Amino acid sequence: MKILVLNCGSSSLKYQLIDMTNEEALCVGLVERIGIEGSVLKQEKEGVEGKLIKEQPMKNHQDAIKLVLEALVDETYGAVKDMKEIDAVGHRVVHGGEKFTKSVLINEEVKQGIKDCFDLAPLHNPANMMGIEACEEILPGVPMVAVFDTAFHQTMPKKSYLYALPHELYKKYGIRRYGFHGTSHKYVSQRAASMLGKDIKDTKIITCHLGNGASIAAIDGGKCIDTSMGFTPLEGLIMGTRCGAIDSAIITFLMEKENLDAQQLTDLMNKKSGVYGMTDYLSSDFRDIEKAAAEGNELAQVALDSYDQTVKKYIGSYIAEMNGVDAIVFTAGVGENAVETRENIMKNMDFLGMKLDKEANKVRGKETVISTEDSKVKILLVPTNEELVIARDTLELVK
Ligand code: AMP
Repeated sequence: MKILVLNCGSSSLKYQLIDMTNEEALCVGLVERIGIEGSVLKQEKEGVEGKLIKEQPMKNHQDAIKLVLEALVDETYGAVKDMKEIDAVGHRVVHGGEKFTKSVLINEEVKQGIKDCFDLAPLHNPANMMGIEACEEILPGVPMVAVFDTAFHQTMPKKSYLYALPHELYKKYGIRRYGFHGTSHKYVSQRAASMLGKDIKDTKIITCHLGNGASIAAIDGGKCIDTSMGFTPLEGLIMGTRCGAIDSAIITFLMEKENLDAQQLTDLMNKKSGVYGMTDYLSSDFRDIEKAAAEGNELAQVALDSYDQTVKKYIGSYIAEMNGVDAIVFTAGVGENAVETRENIMKNMDFLGMKLDKEANKVRGKETVISTEDSKVKILLVPTNEELVIARDTLELVK
């Protein structure tokens, strides 16, 4: 069975065509900078040298998916002759609210349920939905499964997921912490336990999923007990374009002073903030920010320093919550690739038994132990594989 996995992020789209007989990824692709200048699709095929690169404007995810489906039947870099060889599609869906606590086969009711959550994840659920609708059009009749980012965090206790707001608002609107990037936190924590040579039930792990969107999770005995993202993927860390945790009084202050309505403010916090906003709209891409900081741009340097410090704060608080930690795991675009960012986050953490091996840390995108031999807490780099988790769930449901 061949499963196409689509992971539509806010400005990127990752995809894999996976042969489930051996869980081998036949084609792996990435579309970057969707909706911004320089949109590009890159696809690699297992066993074939080089890459298929398609540089052309993609104004939205609909355009991107059409190009992905063309790339999959490419003579050299594609893996199928005909779309009919795709047996099922697994979609990453960011927000499942309280309605979806596990993966589900997509039907009209599920689609409505995903749409009902648009307000909760304004950057992501619409992108996920565009992926679903584009596939329905181009691959009619092919079963599709939605795998929700929120599902893994359903094990959080009430003290972690309830906000200090009137309880009636939780009952009325489901206002609570949901947490996101669940498939990633689940996958990398399982890999980390295996790297530690321990049963996951005997581990305390902090997973740092640092990508364009970023979240941290405290995972005790394989179960998430707390995470930095909340009701929506806006809370917590500083991100590419999202502000993360801020004083909530700023919201009403800005609405009054700048005469902004709710939608304008939502856009400001989701699309114009984070390192992008902090650097006077220089870029949301950490590579650009690092380059600018190295060239002496002070705002870029402050954005990076502030970013690193926020990650540190969460690590510290989760160690306190779990009464210890066995491993810190870095994953996702920034976590897997930004050598200096990892070094800065782990700086001055020896009091907590964490010592980064600076040489071992000079690595990108490869499963590696990056702490020193004598570091009490292991620091690990684990490339995430949300696609594999999604493909497994999809197979399970369409079988
Ligand atoms: P993701 O959302 O996981 O795809 O991560 C996207 C983010 O990873 C973007 O902000 C990229 O700039 C960042 N990223 C990718 N490669 C690097 C790199 N070599 N150094 C720093 N950041 C990177």
